[in-house]
Formats: sequence, C-alpha cells, structure tokens
Amino acid sequence: MSLNIPSLDELVKQLARLPGIGRKTAQRLAIFILKSNDGYADELVDAVIHVKENTRLCKQCFNISEHELCSICADGRRDSSKICVVEDIVDVMAIEGSREYNGIYHILGGVISPLAGVSPGDLKIAELLDRVDGGGTKEVLLALNMSTEGEATMIYISNMLKNKPVEITRIAHGVPMGSHLEFVDQMTIGRAIASRQKI
Ligand SMILES: [Zn+2]
Repeated sequence: MSLNIPSLDELVKQLARLPGIGRKTAQRLAIFILKSNDGYADELVDAVIHVKENTRLCKQCFNISEHELCSICADGRRDSSKICVVEDIVDVMAIEGSREYNGIYHILGGVISPLAGVSPGDLKIAELLDRVDGGGTKEVLLALNMSTEGEATMIYISNMLKNKPVEITRIAHGVPMGSHLEFVDQMTIGRAIASRQKI
C-alpha cells in the first residue's frame, strides 16, 4: 500500500532493493527514518557515502579494505601459508565469526555458472593461481557455498591446482547442500573448517 507520497515511495523503493528486505520491512524502515530526529538521517547518509568513498578491494585477497592490504592480510599473526577460497565477502565474515580459522583468504567474487553467464575468467581464479605460484602457500582450503555451482567451481579450482605443490582441502561435514555459509551458524562453520578434508 502506498500513501502516494512520492519522496517516501522513493525511499521505500530504494530500501526494498537491499538483500533480505521485502516491501513491508522497507516501509517500516522508511517510516522509522522519517520519524527519527534530524541527526539520524544525516548520520545514515554520511555512513553510506563514507563507506563507498573510503573502501576498496584488498590487492591480495579482494576483501573489503580501507588500505592496500585488508586487516586480515596485513595481520602478521595470521598464518599466510593457508588460503581459504570463498565466494563473497559475507563468507569471510561468517568464517571469521567461527574463530576456527587463522589463515588468510581469497575472494573469488562468485562461482562458475554457465546459466548466469559466469565463466572462470569472470572470477579471481587467475589471481589465486598467481598467489600460489608466488610461493609460500601450503594449503588452499575451498570453502564455497554448497550448491551445484559451488561444487563445480571447487572441482575446477582443484584441477587447476592439481600439479602445484599445495595441499587442497575443502570444508567438510555439517554444511548442508544448498546452504549459504553466511546463514549457517558459527559452530557448524567452525566444525566444517576444523574437519576439512583433503581433495
Ligand atoms: Zn586481504
């Protein structure tokens, strides 16, 4: 239901574009913003602009960063001989939340999907191979979402890495088929990483 207020309708329309936000929630958020004191709307807009202006992709792993290297790549306490390959930045957040992994990451930016027109060249696979060829990597842990495309991408990458001197592992039990890592509870992700298997 629209109240036929164009500026409010526009805000609802923009909020409804966010993932996981349906029209009803968008309306509730829009009314909240509208009714909040002046400061909040400004702070919200500033935060949106600020994050767009101040972040870029880490030049090594393609995580979000405010510097050339993200905070994980730049952290000397992390084990840089382990690279965990994930589909998206939200997966890094999910795995970090499990506190089970102390290596670094590589964010592909998607999975191979012929139906959606995504081929290996559209993902950061060549960059991953370059990192491995650069030396220092002992293990590549494939932690892609449990979908047909995720599965196909894991097989593709493990084939590309087959003749390189690295151990290739994949997350194990507990992550159900068809599930997205960001929605799996932290304990399950932690267990799946701890009990990863060699490919
Ligand atoms: Zn990084």
